[in-house]
Amino acid sequence: MLSLKALKLKRSKAIKNQKITYAALPREAYISAKQHKGKPSIVMVNVGQNIEENGLIAIADGAEGVNIHSSVPGEVVAISPQIKGNELITSIKIETGGNFVKHKKRENDLSSLDNKTLLAELKRLGVVDTITALPLHLKLNVSSVNKLVINLLEPDPYCFNGQFLLNEYLDELIKAIKIVTQLILTEQVIICTTKANLNKAIKIKELVEGHGELCVFNDSYLAANERLLKEKFGQSSLILHVTTLFTLYNALVYGEAHNRQLVSVGGAALTENAVMMVAIGTPLTFLFDECGGFKRKAARLVVGGAMSGYVAVTKEAAVTKDIHTVLALTAAEAAVRPTGECCHCYKCVANCPKKLIPYEMYKGITAGRLDLVNKMFLSECVSCGLCSYLCPARFDMAAAFKLATKLTRTN
Ligand code: SF4
Ligand code: SF4
Repeated sequence: MLSLKALKLKRSKAIKNQKITYAALPREAYISAKQHKGKPSIVMVNVGQNIEENGLIAIADGAEGVNIHSSVPGEVVAISPQIKGNELITSIKIETGGNFVKHKKRENDLSSLDNKTLLAELKRLGVVDTITALPLHLKLNVSSVNKLVINLLEPDPYCFNGQFLLNEYLDELIKAIKIVTQLILTEQVIICTTKANLNKAIKIKELVEGHGELCVFNDSYLAANERLLKEKFGQSSLILHVTTLFTLYNALVYGEAHNRQLVSVGGAALTENAVMMVAIGTPLTFLFDECGGFKRKAARLVVGGAMSGYVAVTKEAAVTKDIHTVLALTAAEAAVRPTGECCHCYKCVANCPKKLIPYEMYKGITAGRLDLVNKMFLSECVSCGLCSYLCPARFDMAAAFKLATKLTRTN
């Protein structure tokens, strides 16, 4: 059963600079061939080849694939496997140099384009849903949607992307919602917000045609989980986060490939925290330098947020289309302790929004008993990461559940 009465997590301290910062282009970009759900894209370039900015470097493999474009001009200097989470994925290393494209911001006239053309354009430009990593042309290619849910909630306690976009790009977001409502014809538009963004949500509701409705949430981390929102609003609802809407807007209105990403860069180890517009493939280390470097020792570098991200183990770990937050956490923030014994505190059970029994599931996985774990409703896990976050023994349960779900599907 679903419980959105989630435990309220302490949000990261406010970011001083209240404007989106545009990060410089990195000297070297590491562009992953898998930045989405589905098979890795097929690499189309060779070592030694010169690439233009926005040049196509990998093409979609199959219906669920996405095209990948180069976020920098330069020379391909290596194509090699890199660790991404628990996978080894091909990464294209590009040394930045050569000619930069002079961007002339000219708005495309979308009025004469039909839905098929708009979806094909999203596919061509490799646009990915920034929260679920689904290719956006697939996510929007649905025959019936009874509710369009616009999600203004943040996906991580360290993430401020939604708030910053609402502060600076409200008009663009409203235009993006209008494009989507023409694409999918829906009976109802629901805007999910916290009290902090209520005024902006009201403005969106007033300006978007149709039967708009507000749904106000507490500022709890779990409220933003897309699978939980889908259970709340029904399986035929379509959930779109404002960061995805912004990427869609830039793709359709300005013809921009998805090769930039809005990222919250946080953690108490950094001199400054910021919300940055970043070129895809920018190494984390470069972003941390852009934030003034470290003022305290970083115990853990995390890609993808404190709750459901993964620890960066290589210096080449870089920004992809499905990343909203990167962190440099101190030992105190990361609660780094040796993995211990289960003390049967049952925090994992008490706080699981799906009422699962994480400690038993984890025990089953470590004993190699996937059959037992599946009987404990593993497929219901929404990968929120709360069990791992709260566990005093520091068991990385959420990552184990993700891997076990993947193994179950492939067996
Ligand atoms: S990640 Fe953990 S807390 Fe979240 S749904 Fe899965 S088992 Fe429950
Ligand atoms: S939170 Fe960790 S220590 Fe507590 S019961 Fe669950 S697995 Fe055991």
